[in-house]
This record gives sequence, structure tokens and C-alpha cells, in this order.
Amino acid sequence: MKTPDQKANQNTVRDLSLGGVLLNGLKCRCPQCLRGNMFKGFATIRDRCPVCGLGLDEHDIGDGPVVPMMLVIGTIVVSMALYVEFTYLPPVWVHVVLWVPFVMVLTAVVLKRVKSIVVQLQYRFRETDKKTLPGGQ
Ligand SMILES: [Zn+2]
Repeated sequence: MKTPDQKANQNTVRDLSLGGVLLNGLKCRCPQCLRGNMFKGFATIRDRCPVCGLGLDEHDIGDGPVVPMMLVIGTIVVSMALYVEFTYLPPVWVHVVLWVPFVMVLTAVVLKRVKSIVVQLQYRFRETDKKTLPGGQ
């Protein structure tokens, strides 16, 4: 059983396994204290963690979350659209009504978590004492 002092000195993402890193990313928690919420508003990363003060603005994730999201969401939606097309032969407007809102909702649900996972992975595997310059230099 951990005492309150031990809980205060708990691990960072650097001490977790890859599964723990991904789980913390899905929870959108700070990679250093594992408690603070990384986001303000819908999907804007805070400048600093409200709990431990870690500079979250030093992580330049750029377009990192876009490619995996396009691959995963695109594969899911195209597969489902092909299934619906060849099974039910619906008119084109049915595809528009089905897939446009589906893609928007799925993107809204996944975007925040993928951004969080990218920051977690940067914190876990990169030296973060230096501020990342635009373009990752
Ligand atoms: Zn924190």
C-alpha cells in the first residue's frame, strides 16, 4: 500500500511500459505527473500542466496525428462504405448522409486521444529538456 508521500512521487510516463504510455495517452493525462489534464477546450494542448507545471507547449507534434488518423479512419470508412454499397446498392445520397457525419464524429472522438498519445510518446522517447523548434529541429 502506498503512502500519500509515495503517491506524490509516483512514476512518469518514462517509467511506464509502452501499454501504460498508450493508456495514459487515451486518458489525456500529463506525461510527467500522470494526473493533469493536457487539454483546454476541445483539442487544444495547454501550455503548462495545471498540476505539475510541465511545459506541454515544448512538444511540437505538428501533423503527427494526422497520418495515423487518416489511415485508420479511412480504412474503417471505406471498408464500411464498400460493404454497404455491394450489399444494399443504395443511391449515392445515402452514402453522403451516412459517411460524412460518421467521419466527423469519429474524427472528433479520436483526434484528442491521438494528439495526447503523440505527446506521451515524445515525452517518453525524446529528450525534452530542450525546446523543440518548429519543424522538429
Ligand atoms: Zn503534470
